[in-house]
Amino acid sequence: MFKKILIANRGEIALRIQRACREMGIQAVVVYSEADREAKYVKLAEEAVCIGPAASAQSYLHMPAIISAAEVTDAEAIHPGYGFLSENADFAERVEKSGFKFIGPSPESIRMMGDKVSAKQAMIKAGVPCVPGSEGELPDDPAQVRRIAKSVGYPVIIKAAGGGGGRGMRVVHTEAALIHAVQTTKAEAGAAFGNPAVYMEKFLQNPRHIEIQVMADQFKNAVYLGERDCSMQRRHQKIIEEGPAPGIPRKLIDKIGERCAAACKRMGYRGAGTFEFLYENGEFYFIEMNTRVQVEHPVTELITGVDIVKTQIMVAAGEKLPFTQRQIAVKGHAIECRINAEDPFSFVPSPGRITMWHAPGGPGVRVDSHVYTNYFVPPNYDSMVGKIIVYGDTRDQAIARMRTALSETLVEGINTNIPLHRELMVDAKFMSGGTNIHYLEAWIAARKR
Ligand code: ADP
Repeated sequence: MFKKILIANRGEIALRIQRACREMGIQAVVVYSEADREAKYVKLAEEAVCIGPAASAQSYLHMPAIISAAEVTDAEAIHPGYGFLSENADFAERVEKSGFKFIGPSPESIRMMGDKVSAKQAMIKAGVPCVPGSEGELPDDPAQVRRIAKSVGYPVIIKAAGGGGGRGMRVVHTEAALIHAVQTTKAEAGAAFGNPAVYMEKFLQNPRHIEIQVMADQFKNAVYLGERDCSMQRRHQKIIEEGPAPGIPRKLIDKIGERCAAACKRMGYRGAGTFEFLYENGEFYFIEMNTRVQVEHPVTELITGVDIVKTQIMVAAGEKLPFTQRQIAVKGHAIECRINAEDPFSFVPSPGRITMWHAPGGPGVRVDSHVYTNYFVPPNYDSMVGKIIVYGDTRDQAIARMRTALSETLVEGINTNIPLHRELMVDAKFMSGGTNIHYLEAWIAARKR
């Protein structure tokens, strides 16, 4: 096992990884930007290295700074967390070339899945069902693009091959709007992701977002750890996640889960990963794979008892998966609410000093957060300040516990979306389960202040 790991991330996930290291008797080195000096994971660390100014490009995205931090501290492995460099194949390659272990899949796997066009092609080969659409990248010829759209059937969605984080997508309802939409998405994709390639999918009208968590080792053992329902989204960003997915028969989940595990074996995939699907009328359609730990991983940890971050570290160190598929059972229900520093109505980010932070507790309540009373939320990064995750024997119990947890949570000095979560936990449609990916936006539009 590793003696020392460098955590190339910030925020709650840096703390989460630090906790896993501590439990495993591994020393953790954290890196931080000048804006993150005060963060909890820095204060709790035995070793912390400042890697640059607040701007991510000069700190958390600056590969030489991170690799030199690993060199000067004698770390053996680098955990990239989520976001930042976690799905950057070049970074994974540089980490390994510099003599460190990258805690994640091989650069080849990251590269293949990072391009959504090649990811889809790999899934089709592996027998994983995908959203109907263009076969690969869209050609330049407008006539051909029109022909493809006609055969896919309107509405269609134009998506950037290199897209991520809910950006680089455009829905098209009519042929008249098609070519302009393709050109705009291409131009945006080129500027934002350095890759102008776009592809087309049928735009599903009322799907749910269901994802399968997988875990694999280098010996071609691969296991799926149940599913999460992440349909409660705003602007393609997840706000609430839960597992299991309400109302979807176990048999269907097992069938798609087995396909995902088989695809991992076929690709020689190693580490944690998530297969994201849209689910409509009893069918799953693959949209993309995330080759890293996800924000919502605690949901799976609570319903399976598997520590995903620890397992990531174990398989990166060359160990075998410590469980087989038969040993995995999903039990109870878990829900996660992402707490963002933002206005609960306008969603404008609300960085600044937290004058009071009181986290909830009690049976089945977990809080993953790097903030505390008197912490200053820097304006430079993602607005998420923490996650509240609850567990219950049933979904109803989990919802009741989330209501209690939210009622105990006190944050002053900044605005948060806690009022939004409080309202959603008593919303009749959410409570009955199975809302689709458009539900939250429609709900927000109809909400009265
Ligand atoms: P990203 O990598 O930016 O997260 P995804 O491909 O995972 O992009 O899609 C993000 C979200 O966009 C999905 O959860 C869903 O809400 C919506 N979406 C993507 N593809 C489609 C589609 N074909 N039909 C309907 N909605 C879609």
